[in-house]
Amino acid sequence: MLNIQNLHAGINGKKILKGINLSVNPGELHAIMGRNGSGKSTLANIITGRDSYEVMEGSVSFNGINLLDMSPEERALSGIFMSFQYPVVIPGVNNTYFLRAALNAKLKHNNLNELNAVDFMRLIREKLKLVKMDEKYLSRAVNDGFSGGEKKRNEILQMLTLEPTFSILDETDSGLDIDALKIVADGVNNFRTNKRSFLAITHYQRLLEYMKPDFIHVLIDGQIVKSGDKSLALELEEKGYSWLEK
Ligand code: ADP
Ligand code: MG
Repeated sequence: MLNIQNLHAGINGKKILKGINLSVNPGELHAIMGRNGSGKSTLANIITGRDSYEVMEGSVSFNGINLLDMSPEERALSGIFMSFQYPVVIPGVNNTYFLRAALNAKLKHNNLNELNAVDFMRLIREKLKLVKMDEKYLSRAVNDGFSGGEKKRNEILQMLTLEPTFSILDETDSGLDIDALKIVADGVNNFRTNKRSFLAITHYQRLLEYMKPDFIHVLIDGQIVKSGDKSLALELEEKGYSWLEK
């Protein structure tokens, strides 16, 4: 589904990713771990096409199509989603309108009927239950005044509503208490199918206990220095990252 080859990329002329190779097949959940500043969010930003990030070398394809030629919105419409490490607050934009506009843009793109307000409310109420969010969050502005954990849950609500095929979760577990972590992990787990793939960026072994990744990759200074299965997360928890450094 996602194929990254020899990716060198950065921002403001500074190279951050230094030769990333990564393939994600349908149905797989890959975890990316690594110290702060190792380039994890940069990788997520490159995949989603965030402004001002530059690719210096290499390729990224999604279902065989060159992703790097596509605008961020085209990537989103084609099934890519990102839960932000730092979710954006959008004062004045109602959470329900935001979600419905995003979903309808996607439905339209796929030549499907857009949802009217009544049908959307029916749908969103079901989705809210999955992340145990109260309906009152729908009438507020997007993430405005939300606590850290509420923002992360709202990101997952977006994912469940938009039903992307490739979801990047950038430290969605950071700032969550144990109950919220479990709710978010369950939300993702129940959303998993053999057609959907995930890239979960995390610092914590605990999330991976709940989410059961197929592969774990360790990013150090812009390179994947080690890949393994779930046992690698336990090893990292015990030994840290220094044993993997040159
Ligand atoms: P991680 O998510 O692994 O913590 P990031 O991808 O956010 O790491 O950052 C990687 C490196 O890129 C860090 O050294 C960070 O300071 C740097 N960086 C991120 N954004 C910018 C920017 N806008 N300008 C310059 N350097 C940046
Ligand atoms: Mg980051």
